[in-house]
Amino acid sequence: MSLLLTRDALLGRRSIAGGSLASLTKGLRSELEPLVRGSHAVPAGKALLTREGGRCSCDGALLPYQPFDERHRCPRCARELTGERHDRFRLYWHHLWLAERSVHAAMLGVLLDDASCRATAIDLLGGYATQYLAYPNVDNVLGPSRPFFSTYLESIWLLQLCTALDLLELGAPGDAVAALGARVRDELIAPSAALIASYDEGMSNRQVWNNAALLAAGAMLGDAAMRERALYGRSGVCAHLEIALLRDGSWYEGENYHLFAHRGLWYALQMAGTAGDEVAPALTQRFDAGFIAPLRTVLPDLTYPSRRDSQYAISIRQMRVAESCELGIARRMDERLLGWLARLYDPAIRRGETGRATTSADVERNLPATGLSRSDLSWRTLLLGVEKLPVLKALPLDSDLLPAQGVGILRRDGGGVYVALDYGHSGGGHGHPDRLNLLLVDGHRRWFDDPGTGSYVDDSLHWYRSTLAHSAPLVDGRSQPRVDGTLLAFADDGRAGWMSAGAELAPGLRVRRSIVVMENYLIDELEWDSTETHEIALPLHGVDLVGTDGVPVSREAGSIDESVTREDGFGYLEETMRCTAPAGTAQLLGDSRPGEKHRLRGWLFTGRGTTWWSASAPRAPGLGGRERLLLVRRRATSGRVVGIWAWRDGVADVERAGETLVVTLRAGDRHVHRRTDIGWRVETADRLGARRSVDLAGPRAPSIGPRSLLEDELPDPGEDASEAVSPLALPMSAELGEPHYRQSEAGWAEAGAPVAHVTVSRTGQTVSFDIRVEPSGRRFVAPDSENVFDNEPPGINGDGVQLYVVAGEATGGWLFVPVAARNEVGVHPAEGWSGGLVAEPRWHATEHGYAMHIEVAVGEGLDMFEADVVVNEIGDERARRRGQLILSGGAGEFVYLRGDRHEAARLLRFSLTDV
Ligand SMILES: [Zn+2]
Ligand SMILES: [Zn+2]
Repeated sequence: MSLLLTRDALLGRRSIAGGSLASLTKGLRSELEPLVRGSHAVPAGKALLTREGGRCSCDGALLPYQPFDERHRCPRCARELTGERHDRFRLYWHHLWLAERSVHAAMLGVLLDDASCRATAIDLLGGYATQYLAYPNVDNVLGPSRPFFSTYLESIWLLQLCTALDLLELGAPGDAVAALGARVRDELIAPSAALIASYDEGMSNRQVWNNAALLAAGAMLGDAAMRERALYGRSGVCAHLEIALLRDGSWYEGENYHLFAHRGLWYALQMAGTAGDEVAPALTQRFDAGFIAPLRTVLPDLTYPSRRDSQYAISIRQMRVAESCELGIARRMDERLLGWLARLYDPAIRRGETGRATTSADVERNLPATGLSRSDLSWRTLLLGVEKLPVLKALPLDSDLLPAQGVGILRRDGGGVYVALDYGHSGGGHGHPDRLNLLLVDGHRRWFDDPGTGSYVDDSLHWYRSTLAHSAPLVDGRSQPRVDGTLLAFADDGRAGWMSAGAELAPGLRVRRSIVVMENYLIDELEWDSTETHEIALPLHGVDLVGTDGVPVSREAGSIDESVTREDGFGYLEETMRCTAPAGTAQLLGDSRPGEKHRLRGWLFTGRGTTWWSASAPRAPGLGGRERLLLVRRRATSGRVVGIWAWRDGVADVERAGETLVVTLRAGDRHVHRRTDIGWRVETADRLGARRSVDLAGPRAPSIGPRSLLEDELPDPGEDASEAVSPLALPMSAELGEPHYRQSEAGWAEAGAPVAHVTVSRTGQTVSFDIRVEPSGRRFVAPDSENVFDNEPPGINGDGVQLYVVAGEATGGWLFVPVAARNEVGVHPAEGWSGGLVAEPRWHATEHGYAMHIEVAVGEGLDMFEADVVVNEIGDERARRRGQLILSGGAGEFVYLRGDRHEAARLLRFSLTDV
């Protein structure tokens, strides 16, 4: 077989490995030496994800991974931590590290004709073949896996092992390798590929890796059908290129996932190319555009904007970014990629830790910025990079628009000033409700920012995933619904530019944001229009409302009593105060930092009835502490908020006269701005009287823009599939079994064919739910116990019942877990479901399981209600929930990451009238 390159190409790399890339070869070989000389045994343990594992219990710092040191030392407080949870989390990195080292060993064994390297690769592959089926496929977080806790991790690992075996077979064939190959195929590749194939993750970045692994495994096994599905199936490589990689070459889940997903696609396209598989040229071109796409949005400090679930402020000065440029150039020469390599390989940049010696294959771990050279790259460049690069020259950073991703960037000062309007694609499961978000960055100073996301297992996740954490408008005190925005205008001549976009943030409510950017200030115009009254609120982080004297205005304590769900973010605010509203133009000042020369200055024009609030809110992940949040709120059917924000102290004064804004610069120039029928006009006059007029084009008719191409994937929250079905009559009984089963690793039969009996009945307006679960081991996890795994209610990881009811305006959702040995039921209200209904549960043990009786009083005067019953079951010898039986049906679904959440649209309708 030849996966990534042919035998001839592989052998042809020997001269490059000893020639132009000799120092890269040498670095990889010396990093491998301790492994070559040490033990090649593979660990017998399976990796486990818990809240505690891998983090310092005192300060939460992520524990570094060291391949040759099994101790866990905190980088922040230097404490040494011990325990199985840390050991098993370390295995996550270690299995991946070892798999990647098998590639290093095989590759160097061939390129350097080094028998000790080949022996290392053979031992690692043989060791994993022996061990693979002994790793238990249980208690996973996200899909089935044996050595890991998520399927895509196993895919990354398997892809490495297939690559290593392939390199050995291509470059060093012989009896030992032939015997190894047969064993690795039978005992590892075939069963692992079958497990990966059983879990399809659709348009997720993770499925990219599943596809790449199946493409590799299919080739190694000679299984054409497996390759066919991985390439051309419904969620195969070509589908990802067409749907999830957007037309501008950017991955729909944001920059962070772009790099990860795009590299997975790189493996797939490389393998398809070697095998001669057909991929449409338009898709290949889109893939090639994906090398440059994420670099088009970088901030002045060369970090990625922390869009969606990105980690905060990650520098592009990382080994994998340089390598992505190299791999792109190896496929097709591109001036822009060469320009980025000029910046990344700039010898003036201080060198830090590149992290290469501890890389965990393709699972990314971000490091601080470091200077780089070609010698710092990975095995991929050694195998496939160009022999010599041409002379590298950095290109200036200009304004840019990624129309499919839906982000526009107006840059000034050669890229030193950065203004972005993030309006477009909602981003799927990793997207944030931050459409029409404004970013303003001047050099290293981030005035308006996107905080990205911290830890997925920390409660702060809900804050970072709220609209309130962004500089984006929110409607009626709630985080935005998941919608895509549309571009209306984008134009820039380098001195004056604007971008304008709209989004429907509530049914019938059109919100539009237009940003006009000049040399040292911007105008931010937020407008809305609806048939109904809505409260529009604009969060402004890190600024304060001041009087004309620059002193903060007076304020008094007052609670912003908005919605209570964590997703809306208000629960994370502290010191909420109501500010005295300014009489005329509101003046704002950016928070000052020590040694800072200029503060951001703002002028805001709002309508009648606007209220001003201040609070303290969490800062971006990793920064620690809190910062001021100013919230401007106004209720109206239509309205407008216009802000002018000036950096570097460039603006002296701002006046508004009717529809005209007059901005007077410190230098004495006057700029007159106004909207016109065809766009935006700026008339400038400098001190000497020289006049200039610029017409910025637009608005253009709403285009399809970044319409969600993932409609199949994304449930429409407004959809009510049961609308056409008449309500079910009571009493109603159902035997829940295979069609109702939502599985984890094991399917219904394999899980021991769990069943439950549910009866829904009523007496007057009191509805009763009787649930009988037999057989059941009655493994109850008390709702007030600690959940060591994640931030879900602990009770979900055991036997128990979830009930969801909607009756008229009232709602209720609960997790009920019997308290063993007592006649009580522990109750955990499901988030977002507490809407007035009260439930009274009872339980008792039965001979082979348990039974629960729950009564819910629904209001008078209703003729129907909606409800769903979910039975959690765990089985023996597991730590996490095994599956669920769902009254409304669950076949084909998986329980992973669902916690106690349930979609309201799934509820069944029941009649309250007598037939
Ligand atoms: Zn610590
Ligand atoms: Zn965000």
